[in-house]
Amino acid sequence: MADSVPTESGSGSRSGDSLAQVDAEIHDCERCPLSQGRILTVPGEGDPNAVVMFVGEAPGAQEDKQGRPFIGRSGKFLEQVLTQVGLSRQEVFITSVVKCRPPKNRDPRPAELSACADYLDRQIALVDPRIIVTLGRFSMARWFPGEKITQIHGQVREIGEGRVALAMFHPAAALRNPPWRTAFEQDMQRLPELIRQVT
Ligand code: SF4
Repeated sequence: MADSVPTESGSGSRSGDSLAQVDAEIHDCERCPLSQGRILTVPGEGDPNAVVMFVGEAPGAQEDKQGRPFIGRSGKFLEQVLTQVGLSRQEVFITSVVKCRPPKNRDPRPAELSACADYLDRQIALVDPRIIVTLGRFSMARWFPGEKITQIHGQVREIGEGRVALAMFHPAAALRNPPWRTAFEQDMQRLPELIRQVT
């Protein structure tokens, strides 16, 4: 874990930008091939002033149909574990590194991650969370490059702009693997103390 958690405010958003503007641009986006197979874009949702932002991998089938993040089985599990630490999904902001569903839920490709990165950058600048929780290895790779999720889950690092990142397994992976499920629940228990430190 980071020795101390920074509390100063980040650099903020670009002038005139808004979450609604980001959502609208994502809605019409054709920057990468994932635009061709999607039903709906899934920009993300939650408290626009959230202290905690969860960043997952990509929309799945349910998310693609409804345009909302983490609403399938893994989303229910995420909500359940949030409840265990006294949080609700309405209090946090939930998004992902790509906003459109990859075909057959394959991994997002480097060019797709790169094409979509600006939207997440802007969401982070606008929400200005103090804590970013990475869910799974694609989100983790953005702030913990070259690391392995099995080795660093539960770790907290300063990532600049007065923020820290907490690496966690993806809830879908946690549901498939009982030891990872236990780790997911334990890692989430770090959040209340982290929130106390930054607020
Ligand atoms: S995944 Fe991102 S970059 Fe690709 S089409 Fe969707 S919104 Fe655009």
